[in-house]
Amino acid sequence: MTEKVGVYICHCGSNIAGVIDVEGLAEWAGEHFEGVAVSRDYKFMCSSLGQELIEKDIKNEGLTRVVVGSCSPHLHEKTFRRTCANAGLNPYLFQMASLREQVSWVTADKSKADEKAKALIAGAVHRVQLQEELEPSEVPVNPNTLIVGGGIAGIQAALELADAGHHVYLVEREPSIGGHMAQFDKTFPTLDCAACILTPKMNDVGTHDNITILSYSEVEEVSGYVGNFKVKVRKKPRYVDPETCTGCGICWTECLTKRIPLPKLIMKGEISVGERRLGEI
Ligand SMILES: Cc1cc2nc3c(=O)[nH]c(=O)nc-3n(C[C@H](O)[C@H](O)[C@H](O)COP(=O)(O)OP(=O)(O)OC[C@H]3O[C@@H](n4cnc5c(N)ncnc54)[C@H](O)[C@@H]3O)c2cc1C
Repeated sequence: MTEKVGVYICHCGSNIAGVIDVEGLAEWAGEHFEGVAVSRDYKFMCSSLGQELIEKDIKNEGLTRVVVGSCSPHLHEKTFRRTCANAGLNPYLFQMASLREQVSWVTADKSKADEKAKALIAGAVHRVQLQEELEPSEVPVNPNTLIVGGGIAGIQAALELADAGHHVYLVEREPSIGGHMAQFDKTFPTLDCAACILTPKMNDVGTHDNITILSYSEVEEVSGYVGNFKVKVRKKPRYVDPETCTGCGICWTECLTKRIPLPKLIMKGEISVGERRLGEI
């Protein structure tokens, strides 16, 4: 089926029209491509009058595709998709060419700007004819959040997200959360006591129902996609049962992996330099 394409070139005040020959471009698009049924230029396509112009053409001329050459999709793609939908055209049968950000704002030479604008419009006209109708669909999203790094920034982010009702996994590679701030006495410039700010927050994180701390752990693999990521976290061995450990430190004296002095090892003839873990001998 041959498509009926409408091409609309926006002046954007003098933003585009001050550099590109917008009337000439609209005329060129109307004459140059077989599928183009309507080609117009207008002061502000995003204005309600500009949108009405497109809507009327879709209804009266039976347009099956729409191209707008204007600012950036970031700014007005949604606007023009809505315009198409209002006139009964599937909003994904619309294509935008960025004549402002990609041409007039960045091209001083007017003849080069005209050339580039034609290339963008040509690309959009060809592309839009290949586009297919789409329907938005809803997919379930996992609202859990992973935060990497349990410094003051990670701690605060975890608390705010957890208070907002999301479950947070806080991954910290060191044995304890706290980061740099845990090493300071006072903080510049207010000379507040660092521990007085940090420790209540560390405590809140540790006791919050919505926060799981994975300390002495590192992210090993991330897969999946926005809303449904899967993350593999490696927990490093602590050699103690964290559930029953009271932090008394008595086990240190008996620990098989602690470092021992060099001379003892040399006497055994095991190694000649440095030191070695007792557990490896
Ligand atoms: C010497 C020094 C003095 C400072 N003095 C002041 C001051 O007086 N006033 C002030 O306002 N600021 C000061 N700062 C800055 C302040 O420390 C930082 O702005 C603040 O602590 C940064 O917090 P953070 O959570 O972003 O990072 P950090 O405190 O660095 O925490 C990052 C955490 O992420 C963990 N981590 C990193 N990579 C990974 C990974 N791949 N996987 C898991 N965990 C990871 C780290 O182990 C760490 O616990 C100072 C900084 C330094 C270094």
